This record gives sequence, structure tokens and C-alpha cells, in this order.
Amino acid sequence: MRLSQMLFVTLREDPAEAEIPSHKLLLRAGYIRRIGSGIYAYLPLMWRVLKKVSQIVREEMDATGAQECLLPQLQPADLWRESGRWDTYTQAEGIMFSLTDRRDTELGLGPTHEEVITTIAKDMIRSYRQLPLHLYQIQNKFRDEIRPRFGLMRGREFIMKDGYSFHASEESLKKTYQDMARAYSNMLRRSGLEFRAVDADSGAIGGSGSQEFMVLAEAGEDEVLYTEDGQYAANVEKAVSMPTDAEMSQFATFEKRETPGTETIDKLCKFLNCSATQVVKNVLYEAVYDNGTTVLVLVSIRGDQDVNQVKLLNELTKLAGNYQAKSVLFLTVPDAEAQRKWAAKSLPLGYMAPDVADDYIGGSKEVNSKFLRLVDRTAVDLTNFVTGSNESGYHVVGANWNQEFPLPTTVVGVRTAKKGDRALHNPEQTLQSARGIEVGHIFQLGTKYSQIMGATYTSEQGEEMPLIMGCYGVGVSRLAQSAVEQSYDKDGIIWPVAIAPYHAIISIPNISDAQQVEVAEKLYTELNQSGIETLLDDRDERAGVKFKDADLIGIPYRIVTGRSLKAGKVEVVERATHKSHEILIDEVSSTLKEWIDAAIK
Ligand code: ATP
Ligand code: MG
Repeated sequence: MRLSQMLFVTLREDPAEAEIPSHKLLLRAGYIRRIGSGIYAYLPLMWRVLKKVSQIVREEMDATGAQECLLPQLQPADLWRESGRWDTYTQAEGIMFSLTDRRDTELGLGPTHEEVITTIAKDMIRSYRQLPLHLYQIQNKFRDEIRPRFGLMRGREFIMKDGYSFHASEESLKKTYQDMARAYSNMLRRSGLEFRAVDADSGAIGGSGSQEFMVLAEAGEDEVLYTEDGQYAANVEKAVSMPTDAEMSQFATFEKRETPGTETIDKLCKFLNCSATQVVKNVLYEAVYDNGTTVLVLVSIRGDQDVNQVKLLNELTKLAGNYQAKSVLFLTVPDAEAQRKWAAKSLPLGYMAPDVADDYIGGSKEVNSKFLRLVDRTAVDLTNFVTGSNESGYHVVGANWNQEFPLPTTVVGVRTAKKGDRALHNPEQTLQSARGIEVGHIFQLGTKYSQIMGATYTSEQGEEMPLIMGCYGVGVSRLAQSAVEQSYDKDGIIWPVAIAPYHAIISIPNISDAQQVEVAEKLYTELNQSGIETLLDDRDERAGVKFKDADLIGIPYRIVTGRSLKAGKVEVVERATHKSHEILIDEVSSTLKEWIDAAIK
């Protein structure tokens, strides 16, 4: 392609709308344009990158025996009602765009495709002989994200590869899951990314296991905890570890103390001169279940620990049956306004004890009249502890479970693991922390969708069984931008060769020099013919501008038909290192071929 004929517009300044380097660079280098909040146009250079990423994804998927298909983006609401997700997705979470057609039928724009694929499986899979089966697609997804940001990282329309597998046994699912773990690692390795596969939360579905593929970068929205020995890595939402040991309490007798202005653990520990490990803190949450019931949850946890909201959500989902519900719609820390809706009198916030009275809750049809009291494992073994007194400005010290306070019957593990904690597999290993961008997620689904939507098959024994499912997603557009987030310098993008839009760019320093033009044209034809994807910067611009642009757009090799022509050579500059080589014109093609092959491997 000739730059003179391309839609080629680069910006000198960082656009105000972008916060992170990759977003700024993709905008500045003319790869993408913002059309609306979380909505982007992929311009020709970007589209080439996305096609390359898609192709790598496709090759790795096909190699596992999965088959590509294309499912509709317009999805009937009825399918989502069948799975029970319509209200959650359109109202509670509100992540799904929904619309009504001219016949008053409700539809949603696909954020994911479990419902569609399960319907197909229900229709078409009859017998164990048809299993296992794995279908995937590469397609635009729609999600009405609360906070679209960072360009392609969190868009409202973005490209995803999603695949769904069907099995007659857990073993078969596990095999495909392992195949996917390998395929995903291959995809990221081939795309030139530095990444880590981590244990991930499998949410309310629970049990069977899920992994995320995290591209390591400061701008990542996820925190990854891992050990140096490579034995453990998990998303902080899921990570487990050993907390530090609690210190012995110095308060041997139970008494109430005046502790003015100590509504935080920090202030309290300073005031009492004690360790946060001797404190039981009581944290209030408000959960709204899918049948509309609000439950106030009081979690008692050791003072130096934090509640992990994802783990808490999973525990509350397990308890949904106690409230005649199936799932949790919202889980929040109720602010003053939220409290006003149900509090019968003002709560002793910052001074609550594990036994704070239920009559703080003004019961109503929607609000359960009793606190759901949970105790985290870190608080169970504490003795002579410090905790609230249910009276503002006072705490108690020297308290014990089942003496001054009944131990809540539901013991949970909801603490947040953190950097510096000892690892469970080996206490000598401490957890390290890194930021990650989730680019892929693989998931053993089990029978959640097949059961609820009635997708069954006839087993070898002639029994009607629900299909066992797995699902596997890669954010193609997010992956492409992550590559930039990991690979740039002050001059611009440095694309990994495998996903660069072009391999090489020929810059003609002076287009009025006939020899420069002639050699450039010759190389341009020759390189493209030999499969080296090459751009020709034939614009009537100063050489400096051309070099700057070539660096900004991040093409791996720049060829300059300049001074060295006298010696029958051209200059070839490696983008990543700025290393410059003088290469005989006749050897440019073979040299580049070697370099590219070595880089792509
Ligand atoms: P996140 O936690 O970042 O919101 P998710 O867990 O909801 O993502 P999945 O449903 O697992 O995402 O989707 C599979 C993949 O699709 C993700 O791993 C990610 O790479 C990509 N993805 C998800 N949401 C977006 C988005 N809004 N913009 C771009 N890519 C996305
Ligand atoms: Mg995910």
C-alpha cells in the first residue's frame, strides 16, 4: 500500500480523551477513531492487526478440532428468559442492550452466546455419538459497560472469539479445557505477549474451575497474585493464602472502653495501642436477591483483613435458598441514603458489634428483618478480642466468642488475599502482586445452561442426560491493544512482528530524487511479491516527518532509500531497537524474510 493513497492521518499531540499509553498511541497513529462512548472505528491499519490476531486465534482453535461458525447477534428475549438471565442482564446488571421490534417482540444484542448455542445443541444433539463437539465464532459483542474506557480495552462493541463445547462426561470436558488452556497460551505467545494464566473466580456456577489469561501491564484492571516458584497464580478475586498470625491480646478482662473518634481500625488501634489482628471488625453489606428481597449482611472479620466482595457474593449465592431466591442481583456497602430506606434508627457505624440488634432494621415485605451474620475464618479463633460496643464512641476489649458474643453459625472464607501473604502450597513462598489485563477466560460450565434449557442427549446406556458444557472467550480487540500496552517507547508503537499491520515500510527521503524513487519502487514490488507486507511512504513530505510517522505506527522494519544507495545499499532500521543496518539492495528481501521468520516462530 502507498501512503499517498491511504487514509493516513497521524496526530502530534496526545488526544485528551485517552488515559493510558496504548489508547493514546492507537489514536495518535490513526489506528482507531472514537465514534461514541465505548464505540470505535477500526481504521485500515487496525483492521489488518485485528485480522492477524483473529487468524492466530482461528489457527489455534482449528488445531484443537473446534469448528468455526457464526451465531446471530440479535437474540430473542425468550431464550434469555428460558435461562433466567433476561432480567439480570437487561435490568440488574444492565449489561445487555435490549430493544423491541415493530411486532413488539423483545430482543437483545448478544453480550455472549450461551443461550443461542444451548438452543442449537438442544435441537441438534441427540446422542452421545455426536459428542464431544466444540463450536466457536469470532464476532462483535455488545455490552453496555458502566464505565467504557481505555479505548478497545473496555468497549461497548468489541470483537470476541467465543467457543462452547459439549460433552458426555466430566473427563471429556476436562480434556477440552486442557486443550483450550494450551491453545490460549499458544495464541498469546504467538501474538508476542507476556502473560500469565491464573486461577479465576467461576462465580455462582462454582466448582469446576476456570482460568484467565492475563497480559501483564501496569494499566491492567485486574490484580494477579503469584509466587516466584511458578506454582501459584490467581486473580485476587479468587486468590487464597495464609493470613499472618494474630498477635496475643493484651486485654485479659472484658470491659467497655471509651474510644472517641475511632470509627476506623487504624484510629482504634492507635488509640488502644493494640494490633489490628486483635480486633473483630464488623462490616455491613446490603444484598438484593433476584426475588426482590433485601438482606442486610454483617460480616465479622479480623481487623487487619479485608472482605473480598466476589467471595462474599459467592457465599451469599449459596445461601439464596434461605430467602427463596436463586441469585444475588446487587451487593453493596449501603451508604447513608441506602440505609435510610430500611434503618429503623441510626446505626452505630464504626462501633458495631457482632451482635448489633436486629431492631435497627425496619422490617418490611422487601427487607428481611434479621441481619445475616457471617464470620470469616480469620475471626473465629480470636480470644480476648477488641470489637464494637454498639454505642458510638465506645468499644469493648477482652471479648470472647460464645461468652459476650454468640459465634455466628455461618463460617465463611471471604478474606482478600494480599501481597506478602504466605502461600498455601508452601509457606516459604510469599505472594507477589502484578497488574494484568484479562484477555482470555476459559471456563468449565457444567450443566447450568443445558439443565435449565433442557438440552439433553441420550447416553450410551440409553439415559436422557443434560449436556456437560465448557465455554472459552478471547477478547480479540482487547488483545490487540494489550500488545501496544506492553510494547511501545517514546516514539510510538512497537508491534510484535506477528501482528504488525505491515512488516516493513519503505521511506523515500526525497521524492524528487529519481534514483531514490526507482529503488524504492523496485523493492516495494519485490518485497510484496515475496510475501513481505510492505508499505511505501511516497508522500511529498520531509524525511524527518516520514521517519517519525514510521516510528509512531510501529512497523517492525523501516527501509530508507537514502545516502547508502551510492554503495548499492539501503538502510534498514529495526523499530524495536533503532538498530540500523546497511544492506545490499539485492539482499533486502532475503534478509527481511529471515528476520521475520525468526521473530514469528
Ligand atoms: P471483564 O471482567 O474485563 O469485564 P468479562 O470477564 O466480563 O471481562 P468475559 O465474559 O470472560 O469477560 O469475555 C471474554 C473476553 O472478552 C474477556 O476475557 C475480554 O478479553 C473480552 N472482553 C470482555 N468485555 C470486554 C469489553 N467490554 N471490551 C473489550 N473486550 C472485552
Ligand atoms: Mg471473564
